[in-house]
Amino acid sequence: MNAYIEKVLEEVRVKHGNEPEFVQTVEEVFSSIEPVVDAHPEYEKFDLLGRMVEPERMFTFRVVWMDDNGNWHTNRGWRCQFNGAIGPYKGGLRFQKNVYEGVIKFLGFEQTFKNSLTGLPLGGAKGGSDFDPAGKSDAEVMRFCQSFMTALYRYIGPDIDVPAGDMGVGGREIGYLYGQYRRLKGVWENGVLTGKGLSYGGSLIRPEATGYGAVYYLQEVLAHENDTIEGKRIAISGYGNVGWGIMKKAMQLGAKVTYFAGPDGYVHDPDGVATEEKLNFILEMRAKDPMHCQPYADKFGCEFVPGEKCWGVKDVDIYMPAAMQNDVRMESAEKIAASGVKYYIEVANMPTTNDALNFLRAQKHMIVAPSKAVNAGGVGVSGLEMSQNSERLVWTAEEVDAQLKKMMKTIHDMSAEAAAEYGLGYDLVAGANIAGFKKVATAMMEQGAF
Ligand code: GLU
Repeated sequence: MNAYIEKVLEEVRVKHGNEPEFVQTVEEVFSSIEPVVDAHPEYEKFDLLGRMVEPERMFTFRVVWMDDNGNWHTNRGWRCQFNGAIGPYKGGLRFQKNVYEGVIKFLGFEQTFKNSLTGLPLGGAKGGSDFDPAGKSDAEVMRFCQSFMTALYRYIGPDIDVPAGDMGVGGREIGYLYGQYRRLKGVWENGVLTGKGLSYGGSLIRPEATGYGAVYYLQEVLAHENDTIEGKRIAISGYGNVGWGIMKKAMQLGAKVTYFAGPDGYVHDPDGVATEEKLNFILEMRAKDPMHCQPYADKFGCEFVPGEKCWGVKDVDIYMPAAMQNDVRMESAEKIAASGVKYYIEVANMPTTNDALNFLRAQKHMIVAPSKAVNAGGVGVSGLEMSQNSERLVWTAEEVDAQLKKMMKTIHDMSAEAAAEYGLGYDLVAGANIAGFKKVATAMMEQGAF
């Protein structure tokens, strides 16, 4: 390993010992960029990597809100503006009980390279709160969002920082957040948030974009292997917004999701989640608290395996972890490798631990694709939403979808080319890291040290 990379990694391990997810993502990205850093001794001279692992700024704020019984609650909110070298800060907000600084930083770092891969001018950011949306009424969510935005609004803007959704933040939350932003600023600046409703500047296809983009990326991988998507069976984890998009696009293209896992276990539907009725049921199920997938098995008469994940099932062609970080650890990776399934396509942000990911990459019979490329269609369409807002135009679903498809092909091809350039073969993980890194590195170097 390049001595400069090693030195920065060691500093990160010491400084962020209590933020393991952040250390993990830095180790993952930096393990791929050695040939680039070797070729650019000036990076060390200007301490480029040391700067890259330090967020440009990060805000922590208090969020106070009242529940429906008149009791006050205090949560913590964050926004991490990680890297603005290539565009305004951009990235989602995550509302989840276990969110803390380390999660926000890992997501912000990852976002920086993901956004770079989209080819659009988007810097990297992330934010969120340890607010637990489970079981909250609409009115409680509204009051929370209003309080959250009251703290955040002075730090964001269409040319400054553009938040969006992530886990726990969907169209409803974005609506309440935007309403409060507008009330506070007294301007129509709908480019300040993405993932908006269609009635106030949202983009068609944005809700589906991450899942659709993941399937488009998968098609590029299959094409590289002289294979096609028709008839493919897919096992996924997670049936939130992203999982739902995968199910829907797979159905349209003649493939099917035959396994999906939730927090309570997994469902096996050999016919696939491949009818409108089933897809609508998924939508209903994900809105319920607690999030259980067993009702699907009960309703459609299929097998439900409680308390287990579907990693290791043999009667599929593709695995797509689409739930959350560190969903697939070494134990599951061993089962996945033993199953003989060829394609492991990450979708959620950092769904695989580093040891498990490297183990899967080392399997000769497997092709592994990294989430920062595969899920980039979500933020990519957010970029298209920003363009529509600034042009005061609305693009058709077909226009957005065609752009998304093109973007996913470019991301795949750029990654494959970057890996090939450094003699790494068809290594999509290394290629995505290298391609994403290079653009940010170049922009930072050209803008001078700060
Ligand atoms: N939260 C999504 C992601 O992880 C979307 C971010 C955005 O659209 O800004 O990329």
